[in-house]
This record gives sequence, C-alpha cells and structure tokens, in this order.
Amino acid sequence: MKFYAIRNIRNIYAMRKAILILAFLISTANISASTVQLKQTETVTGLTVELYYRALQPGEVIQVLLKESSSVREATARFLGKKYTFFKMKNSTEYLALIGLDLGVSPGAYPLNISILYSDNSHESLAQIINVVSKEFPVKKLWVEEKFVTPPKEVQERIQRESKILQTIYDIYTPMWLGEGPFIVPSEGKIMSNFGEQRFFNNKPRSSHGGVDISTPSGSPVKASNSGRVLLAADLYFAGKTVIIDHGLGVHTMYCHFSKILVKRGEFLKKGKIIGEIGATGRVTGPHLHWGVKLYGSRVDPLSLLNLKFK
Ligand SMILES: [Zn+2]
Repeated sequence: MKFYAIRNIRNIYAMRKAILILAFLISTANISASTVQLKQTETVTGLTVELYYRALQPGEVIQVLLKESSSVREATARFLGKKYTFFKMKNSTEYLALIGLDLGVSPGAYPLNISILYSDNSHESLAQIINVVSKEFPVKKLWVEEKFVTPPKEVQERIQRESKILQTIYDIYTPMWLGEGPFIVPSEGKIMSNFGEQRFFNNKPRSSHGGVDISTPSGSPVKASNSGRVLLAADLYFAGKTVIIDHGLGVHTMYCHFSKILVKRGEFLKKGKIIGEIGATGRVTGPHLHWGVKLYGSRVDPLSLLNLKFK
C-alpha cells in the first residue's frame, strides 16, 4: 500500500520536497499478539500515517493515526463521500480518526484522502487506495410475533418517527474523542458472531443484522462499552428499550431489548457504567443484548472495534 502526496508548493525548496515525496519510506508490519494489521507511511515532513484494521471488508473499522504531528494545525479524511475530522489526543502529538466500511459496501478500490494543514500554513494531501474485499454473510431464519414482521397500521407512524430520530442521531459527528482507552464487551454471556447475517423473519426477508447478540439471562447488567454521552434512552418499536451512546468522532454504540434502562439522555457516562438490564423488549426471540455500532452512519461490526488500541 502506498500513500501519494501532493504538497502545496510555496517555494523551490518545497518543490524539491514534493519531488522527494516519490521516494516515500513505506513500511508494513504486523503487530504481534493481535489480529490488527498496520500499514505505515512516513511523509517528508516527518509525519507518520498509520492505519490499523482487522480486515478491509464490509463492516470493518479503520483506525487512522497521524504520529509525530506536532506541526499539524488540523487534518481531515475523506472516504466514500464522508468527511472525518481528526482529533488531537490529549497529552499527545497523535491525531485520531476512525473510518467505517459499511456492511453494504461493494468490494472495490476506494480512495482515502487525508488533508493536513500545518502550523506554517502549508498544506499536504495524501491519498491511499483502500481495497475492500468481499465477505460472505450467512442467511438466518428467525421466528417472531407477526406484528414485528408486518406491523399493524396503527404503529406505522411510530415506526417512521423512530426511524427519522435514529437517522438524525447517526448523522451526528462530534469532532472530539470522548472514549477512554479500548472498548469493552458490554455484557457477560455468549457473544454470537452474527454481524451481517441476512435475515428472514417468519420467512420474509428483512434488513441484515447490524450488530452482534450476546445471550445472557434477563436482568443481567449491561455496561457502557466506552465513555461518552447518551444520545437516546427510549423504548423503540423494533429495538425495544434502547440506549445509544456517542463516543465522538462518529462512533455510536447501541444497546437494545433492555428490560430496564438506567441512564438518561444527555448524561455523560464513564466506560463500564451500568446502563440497563437485559430483557426481551421489541423484535426478539428471547432475552439477549443486541449490541450495535455505527460509525458516522456506517454499520460496522462491534467486534472489529474491540481489538483496536486507544490511548
Ligand atoms: Zn441483534
């Protein structure tokens, strides 16, 4: 993988630098004791761009770090029509952005463009092709109450209203990182790796499964997977009693089917805080936690976040 850069040329010296860019130092390394891969590129300004990810497939998260970035004033990344703002990590010269490969993204080569403004007002643009490869998701048949498959007329308005609220929430991009350290599994119990399943409810095709399920008894506590702000704490038709937390930089975790919600909208939470109890509200086959992650609207596998290191 190669980064190509074009630096705004302000004088001859800078032009020489721009030519030197062709001779980028590129190194690739695997981090031991982890399934996360690393692609590293050093630019002539001394800045290092690092990409960490589990795989380049639908539903995966790419963590982008700018290192040795003391002269950076601001940086943004653009990918598949979305603009992500880098955040300068506290007590560090590192900048962080997170990019989501939506569950529905088609295999192909997509440019990731990074734009950096330095404190001397010079500007650098980097481009990297992200080669997304295909992934097969299994088909699953499930049996639920018919009102959750063909909802009656009187709930149509409610469903539409809730769908609009959720869309508005997922479009929120808080340009700062609220998380503290790595994400944690929110509940004890068996984690089903069932992200992306193509689902048939009562033999009718419905949307793919946008999270993982954790099966655990009713009443068990559920923890916030990381620190953040509660954007929603409400009873929804399909998702049941649900909590959505904004961790910043576009990352939203959602927790569904609670029997009891223990937090309020607007509340700032520390990682590990108990936010609710396991239940079977909404469209379910039994008590469990549905744990979902949206990254600036992209449906990503919560398990792809778990391996990433966060300061
Ligand atoms: Zn689920």
